[in-house]
Amino acid sequence: MKNSAAKTTPLPNITMDDIGGIPIEMKEEILQTLSIVKNPKRSLQVGIKPPKGILLYGPPGTGKTLLAQAIAREIGAAFFSSSGAAFTELFVGVGAARVRSLFQNARKQKPAVIFIDEVDALAGKRKAHGSEEAERTLTELLVQLDGGKDNDGILFIAATNRKDMLDDAFLRPGRIDFTFNVPLPDTKGRREIIDIHTKGKPLSGDVVASLDMLAESTSGFSGAEISSLFETASRRAVRDGRKQINKSDLDFAIDRTILGSTSRSLNDF
Ligand code: ATP
Repeated sequence: MKNSAAKTTPLPNITMDDIGGIPIEMKEEILQTLSIVKNPKRSLQVGIKPPKGILLYGPPGTGKTLLAQAIAREIGAAFFSSSGAAFTELFVGVGAARVRSLFQNARKQKPAVIFIDEVDALAGKRKAHGSEEAERTLTELLVQLDGGKDNDGILFIAATNRKDMLDDAFLRPGRIDFTFNVPLPDTKGRREIIDIHTKGKPLSGDVVASLDMLAESTSGFSGAEISSLFETASRRAVRDGRKQINKSDLDFAIDRTILGSTSRSLNDF
């Protein structure tokens, strides 16, 4: 496998306003944290050290990757994105070498955000994985996170669905300074996400009238599922040669999502 983590990933045009269902206090805390990152000198003058690492945890599809992208954009940083699984290698030393080269490359392009999704694959509890190679890779990650001055201008962001599986040494302040829970959205949050994903989409009047009800009736849906709902509905409208998404497209999409076969149905179109 090639080490794609060592290159920057193009940043989509995402801002905090494109992420719905995030509690307002959390958005404010994130923005406050970022203002420290953006003004490290001023922060140091008042005795606040810029954060080195942020952990985002929560169920799949709740917007953790979006948040990491919005954070990188907010601080004008190059974005290095990878998945924890990209560092789990059978060959001795390869995982550790990838971690090293990721940090080295990011340091050449400061300010930079290093984002590792599914970080549990890389920073899981040491006793749990019991493999020497995995331990070596995790140790290298800890060494790189402790990079001192070399890491000025580097913000490490990790995401996981399994915070309970993470190694305590990884979670130590100085490595991970802020931890944010990114939950499934409540009704208000789902309504915000519906607004985000219907923006610019032509909807029939009965769909528009049903959106509040949709937010109420989609308890347990993630942002990704809501997004996929409207993608599925759009594709069905296009397939049938209509210019607007109608109620039957939406009902069809809801059924598909509830049956858990959305991805298959998308491929069917
Ligand atoms: P995973 O844990 O599976 O990696 P994630 O939490 O990182 O998932 P994202 O990759 O950020 O989830 O979300 C996938 C897609 O779902 C986004 O590109 C977006 O279209 C939609 N989405 C998810 N959460 C939200 C949200 N809170 N607001 C708006 N859109 C969202």
